Amino acid sequence: MEKVCPLCNALQTTTEKCPRCGALLVDSGALNSYLGPYSPYMNSDELPFGAKDYCVHLLHCPICAHDTRHSVSLVPM
Ligand SMILES: [Zn+2]
Ligand SMILES: [Zn+2]
Repeated sequence: MEKVCPLCNALQTTTEKCPRCGALLVDSGALNSYLGPYSPYMNSDELPFGAKDYCVHLLHCPICAHDTRHSVSLVPM
């Protein structure tokens, strides 16, 4: 069964909150789509759970401009 990222496929929106101010974070897109799966900038340290079952997204706080990374669990399609 193929797994897909629910954020990339618009199946759901993020419910992550900003660690600084508690505002709802806005999804700025998957890091994979910025850098490509074989980018030299993506080292294993940035993918602590393994790239296969997670899609790493950049989340942005619209209130305090804090950026954070969030590993989104893939879901069966
Ligand atoms: Zn994604
Ligand atoms: Zn914030």
